[in-house]
Amino acid sequence: MRSFDILIVGAGHGGANCAVQLRQLGFAGSIAIIGEEPELPYERPPLSKDYLAGDKEFERMLLRPASFWADRNVTMRMGETVTTVDAAARTVTTAAGATIGYGDLIWATGGAPRRLSCAGHDLAGIHAIRTRADVDALKDELAPAIRIAIVGGGYIGLETAAVLSKLGKQVTVLEAMDRVLARVAGPALSHFYEAEHRAHGVSIRTNETVSAISGADGRATGVVLADGETIPADIVIVGIGIVPAVAPLLAAGAAGSNGVDVDDHCRTSLPHIFAIGDCAAHTNSFAGGAHIRLESVQNANDMATTVARLLTGNPKPYHAVPWFWSNQYDLRLQTMGMSLGYDTTVLRGDLAARSFSIIYLKAGRIIALDCVNAVKDYVQGKALVEQGIRVDPAVLADVDVPLKAHHPVA
Ligand code: FAD
Repeated sequence: MRSFDILIVGAGHGGANCAVQLRQLGFAGSIAIIGEEPELPYERPPLSKDYLAGDKEFERMLLRPASFWADRNVTMRMGETVTTVDAAARTVTTAAGATIGYGDLIWATGGAPRRLSCAGHDLAGIHAIRTRADVDALKDELAPAIRIAIVGGGYIGLETAAVLSKLGKQVTVLEAMDRVLARVAGPALSHFYEAEHRAHGVSIRTNETVSAISGADGRATGVVLADGETIPADIVIVGIGIVPAVAPLLAAGAAGSNGVDVDDHCRTSLPHIFAIGDCAAHTNSFAGGAHIRLESVQNANDMATTVARLLTGNPKPYHAVPWFWSNQYDLRLQTMGMSLGYDTTVLRGDLAARSFSIIYLKAGRIIALDCVNAVKDYVQGKALVEQGIRVDPAVLADVDVPLKAHHPVA
């Protein structure tokens, strides 16, 4: 049986970065990464942005070249899926039947796209956007398609809508809630993005529930809404979140439900097993102490560093301000902090000028910023969120006063 001092399951942002950090911090033991996808670790964000648009080649998305992993003596086992974990024996088994031993196991498996469960959910022509293979399959069908229905008005749905409308497609976004981005942003930002998409010819329909996918000859032809209306579609794209890929860990006895529970060093409830990234449910002080999963590159990378530090004898609890970005048309949205539970918002700048920030406060303290084409606010806002600074909203709104003027005095 092959055994590794550190075995990482999942070759995405978290898994890859954990191996990078371990070597950077001087870990000299054996490391292997097992990944279900056939590709070496790559950046996921371009999948719904420049890769879908055809503006970025896949090779430019690799997190590190193949030589990097060989030079650092990291064993890459791509195209293998871990199906069971035995925490007592400290082994995992793969779908192909291999048993692999570990000293410490790092679970970095992200999640699988949530699928529709309604009638017609399994017709051809229905796509998700999570992996390179997903996007390649979509691109293969794009040329003859004219009408595209996107189920879900979150970041992935909206980024995809922006790319496909630029490619000349007739795009309809169907969102179940009363506004897009409802889970992650305040109404002002949602309505700004709805208006932007409509100005680009995208039909944004909120309060719409999908009741079925209609089809002919085994292929989707439209999305049937709750009131019986059918939105005709040559392709249906579903962007309604992920289901964390933690079944083997939960079956092994790890605590968790929506993901696997971890403490502030990313330890699961099982000995020598850690979890990081999209699949790790943790208590986040920037979300008011809520137990949440974050789905962002920042979170995956910072959790990877947390585990690498612990395993190299220099532990530091996970305490990182969440940040995120989204590119749609010529708009670069950058978010800092989490707006969850805000009671006041301040608009800084001008929505019509398409360069502004929305600042979220809770009990007088700054907890988050959504910055659209406003990189200075984004950069200077970090310290304000980190320290939970109190600033008079009227002063915050004054664009002539840079946010750094409110930085805490060192
Ligand atoms: P992943 O990167 O998903 O990697 C998990 C890997 O584990 C996958 O390759 C999976 O196949 C593999 N795996 C799963 N189960 C097993 C198993 N049992 N055995 C072996 N391997 C397994 N974040 C941002 O911050 N900004 C953005 O603009 C942004 N855009 C995005 C656009 C798209 C289209 C998507 C899908 C995500 C985007 N994200 C963005 C989110 C970001 O990509 C994720 O938060 C990040 O990839 C999480 O890293 P991870 O390592 O936890 O999981």
